[in-house]
Amino acid sequence: MRRITVFGSTGSIGVNTLDLIARRPGAFQVVALSGGRNIKLLAEQARAFRAEVAVTAHEDCLPALRDALAGTGIEATAGKAALIEAALRPADWIMSAIVGAAGLAPGFAALSQGTTLALANKESLVTAGPLLLAEAAKHNARLLPVDSEHSAVFQALVGEEMAAVERIIITASGGAFRDWPIEKLAHATVSQASTHPNWAMGQRITIDSASFFNKALELIETKEYFGVRPEQIEVLVHPESLVHALVGFKDGALMAHLGAPDMRHAIGYALNWPERAELPVTRLDLAKIGALTFRAPDEDRFPALRLAREVMAMGGTAGAAFNAAKEAALDAFIGEEIGFLAMSRLVEAVLTEMTARHGLGKPLDSLDMVMDTDATARALARSLVPTVRT
Ligand code: NAD
Ligand code: MG
Repeated sequence: MRRITVFGSTGSIGVNTLDLIARRPGAFQVVALSGGRNIKLLAEQARAFRAEVAVTAHEDCLPALRDALAGTGIEATAGKAALIEAALRPADWIMSAIVGAAGLAPGFAALSQGTTLALANKESLVTAGPLLLAEAAKHNARLLPVDSEHSAVFQALVGEEMAAVERIIITASGGAFRDWPIEKLAHATVSQASTHPNWAMGQRITIDSASFFNKALELIETKEYFGVRPEQIEVLVHPESLVHALVGFKDGALMAHLGAPDMRHAIGYALNWPERAELPVTRLDLAKIGALTFRAPDEDRFPALRLAREVMAMGGTAGAAFNAAKEAALDAFIGEEIGFLAMSRLVEAVLTEMTARHGLGKPLDSLDMVMDTDATARALARSLVPTVRT
């Protein structure tokens, strides 16, 4: 039996991960599950999978979690230190599916046990890519991509040499506002932005898809994970979300990865790697689908991609600042303090201000440096909220 831990088990990726695990009774033993305030679901999962420990991120939720698990023999713990403790419990495969920079520390700690870390938490690579890869190499741990585009690239690269890769193209559905004119975007509401045309995902990544910040993070994720130069990475809008990525080789060949928009494919690929196992995903009928369409992204309406290119050029601490400013801008949008278009204005203002005040892009030497940059950018973004045009 493979020992499995799932960070963020109550979220969209976490629930899909447990769905796959439940389909193979006897194959996996669940070590730790973690969630936030949805204690009911966390406790249900812990009972159903007979986890050793269930961890809530919030100390004030611990009494409720203890109550819900009373008499089961399952440990209940809470808080950041408890997440790290769970990450150090021996496991063969660990899913990193907490949303946001909060997912970095548990995933980083897990690497020290030389495990396989399935990385849905793209923020880990955006904020601390070089540190994460170095930590994995140091402990002989393996990082497997779970983001659908990165899993697609990873699969297109099986048996290939990176030296033969000319370019990597990641696709974008275009999100909720693909065809909206810019005047209308200014008034987009939180609920409109929280509805994705093709994918069912958590609210934060769904809004990030509508603003293109998700694709912006994924550009940086591609650079960090595959070690390619920023100019080798392209974004292509593909409204059908059936081609997830393409790899272009030096002989002109393009290898595309196609599949239904169902995260259980990418999760299942990482879960079964290096083998392929049967997965409960829809098989594509291309004759019925008929046509696939592609177009260039519109950086006037969606400046996030341009900002990501600036961040990649700076490197070092810029990724952590960018991600934290984006998270703060998203909080402000969800809290209806700023409008949809103001998110990118706020992120840009933070990058400009931090470059002027502290100099962005210093090489990362430690997780503390990442956390400090994150905290500075978040606080700055908060203070700039009243100054951005909504
Ligand atoms: P979600 O919001 O559905 O779930 C997030 C999980 O993290 C929940 O279990 C929640 O309790 C936990 N969490 C939230 N804040 C936390 C904190 N501060 N500390 C500890 N735990 C916390 O998110 P999701 O859509 O499942 O996304 C998870 C990660 O996977 C994100 O990094 C996202 O970018 C990435 N991802 C998601 C999808 C998708 O289809 N949902 C696709 C690609 C990548
Ligand atoms: Mg993705």
